[in-house]
Formats: sequence, structure tokens, C-alpha cells
Amino acid sequence: MFIRALALAGTFYGVCAGGAVPIAPGTYLIEGEATPNRQPDGNSVIIEAPQGLIVIDSGRHKEHSQRVLDFAHAQDRPIAAIINSHWHLDHVGGNPRLRAAFPGIRVYASSAIDAARTGFLVDYRAQLVTEIAASAKNPQAQESMRAEVALIDQGAALGPTDVIAKSAPLNIAGRTLQLHLESHAVTAGDVWVFDPETRVLLAGDLVTLPAPLFESACPARWRTSLARLEKTPFDWLVPGHGAPMRKQGLNVYRKAFSNLLECAAADAGKNHCVDGWINDASVLIDSKDVSYARTLVGYYVENYLRHPTERIQKFCSN
Ligand SMILES: [Zn+2]
Repeated sequence: MFIRALALAGTFYGVCAGGAVPIAPGTYLIEGEATPNRQPDGNSVIIEAPQGLIVIDSGRHKEHSQRVLDFAHAQDRPIAAIINSHWHLDHVGGNPRLRAAFPGIRVYASSAIDAARTGFLVDYRAQLVTEIAASAKNPQAQESMRAEVALIDQGAALGPTDVIAKSAPLNIAGRTLQLHLESHAVTAGDVWVFDPETRVLLAGDLVTLPAPLFESACPARWRTSLARLEKTPFDWLVPGHGAPMRKQGLNVYRKAFSNLLECAAADAGKNHCVDGWINDASVLIDSKDVSYARTLVGYYVENYLRHPTERIQKFCSN
């Protein structure tokens, strides 16, 4: 879909190794996959820098990180750095493979993965182990859950070598990027990146399609973060999941996000909130993803926005 959109906009330059699509000079997108029956991969963006390639988010599955490696090999350039927008496994899962291929690689991220590795990921791992034992009749499901456990067990190899502790311009691999840190939005520490040279903004999961995912989020602070994105003079915004968008797209997303929180806080029926999201964000949602979006929004309204667990309340109280 995005390739078609670029072609219509007259900026389509063709597809490169790894299925990477150029979105600005020296900047390429490897689209992540999000389908109902498989754990997602986030989008990866690759930026050319004087000392090598900078990869923003490394996906989850090995097929995704392989596409990043294929791109680097075809260009005959090393990956010099990774920037992780946040610690979710669909964004850091490829880190160990990229590090193994390029041992000197620097990894920039917030420190939020430290708490996740002793909290959220421990709980999730225990849940996976229980489900693996209960799914003896479904070897395919077992295999994907085992892969997930193996990923969590990579431990420190998922995390940063260089902690982003504040918003500031940073020279990475010889190129200056503006790194921004949001505290307690999608996770306890989300990094988004603006490249002033190309005016591309890499939003991570602050912008997620076909619907925002709330399992480690503070929804109210997330909403505030979207206002900061909007103040940035970008030409293209690349979301954590979904197709790149212009300013108008972010306006639509922001309004839909805000309406969703308001609907969940009021006493309208759950389906009213689901319909609201689908209507408000319709120009951003691919028609094939509508039913997936409905499932996601219904789930999050019911289990997180209306009935926040202790863990979610903690995300907002720090
Ligand atoms: Zn994600």
C-alpha cells in the first residue's frame, strides 16, 4: 500500500535489497508485518551515515532482521548503530542477530528495558511457558511461543550500549539526529527521532496502526506526546506499525486517539468506542485491517482503558 502511495506522490524510486523502500535521500523503510495470527514486527528504517548504516528498530522475527542484513550486504556497508524506539520485542528482537553480524555496533535506547526485564517480560515469559505446556496439540503455536521465550532469554543483548536519558541532538555514526525521550507513554521510556536533513520523523509506536497497543502504556501521557510530534516540522512520519504519513495523517491519528480515550472514560458501550476509532482513523486504516483493528480496540478498551491493572496504573504514576 505504501509503495503505491509513494508512486502516486511521484516519489517512488523502486525497491532495494531486503524489500527496503526509499522514503527520502539515504533513508529506507523495511515495513514490518502485522497480521491477526502472528506476533508483529515493527517497521525498521535505515539511514545512511558517514560511518555506516543506522537502523531504527530491528523487528522481532529472524526473517525481518534478515531483510535488514540483506540490505546492508547489498550496499556493502556495515551497520554502525541501532536506535530502539522502545523495548517491545517487535522492535528490539533483531538486535542480537544484528550485533552478531556487526560486533562493534552501538545500540541507543532508553533504560526502560531494565525494569521490563525484571517485570513485564518475566510475567510474559511465565505465561508463555504455561501456554506451551497446554498446547501440545498445536506444534506450530508451540514453536512460535518457544521462539518468543528464546528471544526474552537473549537478555542484555536486547538492550542498549548507550542509554538515551534526555532529549538532545546526538551524533551517531557521523550523522546528527535529534533524539527525543518520552517518559511513560507507550512504555516507561520511548525514543523518537527527527532527522533535520531529510525532515523524516520516526515515531516508534507513539503512532501505531491499525490501532494503538496499550499493554505497557500510560494513555494520558501518550496523548501529550502526540502533541509534541505534531510541533515537529516533518515531511514524512514513519509510524511503528503501518504506512508513512504526512502531517495531515498525524492530525487524524491524534484526534482519533483522543476521542478513543474520551469514549473509554465515558459510559458508552464498548462497540461505540470501537466504531469511533474506525470512523475517525478510517483514512489511515487499510481496508484489510479493519476487522483486526476492531478486535484490538475492543480488547484494549475492555482490558486496559476501562479496567487498568495495577501494572498500568503504575505506568502512569511514575
Ligand atoms: Zn510495536
